[in-house]
Amino acid sequence: METPIGPGPEGMNLNHIKVCARCSLRYDWRKSPSSMKMTYCSSLCEKGDLGFTLEALLRYERKPIVELPEDTESREPAMPGV
Ligand SMILES: [Zn+2]
Repeated sequence: METPIGPGPEGMNLNHIKVCARCSLRYDWRKSPSSMKMTYCSSLCEKGDLGFTLEALLRYERKPIVELPEDTESREPAMPGV
């Protein structure tokens, strides 16, 4: 027993419709490019509201801070008794 609330494109599921926390736009969260797609309609709104994007934050934290020196030459394979 489907009870359509209003006119809309075929296949549009109202369960997927969210209201953007920033611009109050109604959007399909599955199509939102934001990394917080349940909250913001776009990464622009996400960035505008938070000041950054989670995606950028995650990328930043993944970046190695200290580069490990490549000392594979000094590390000889352990072959005792040969
Ligand atoms: Zn928005």
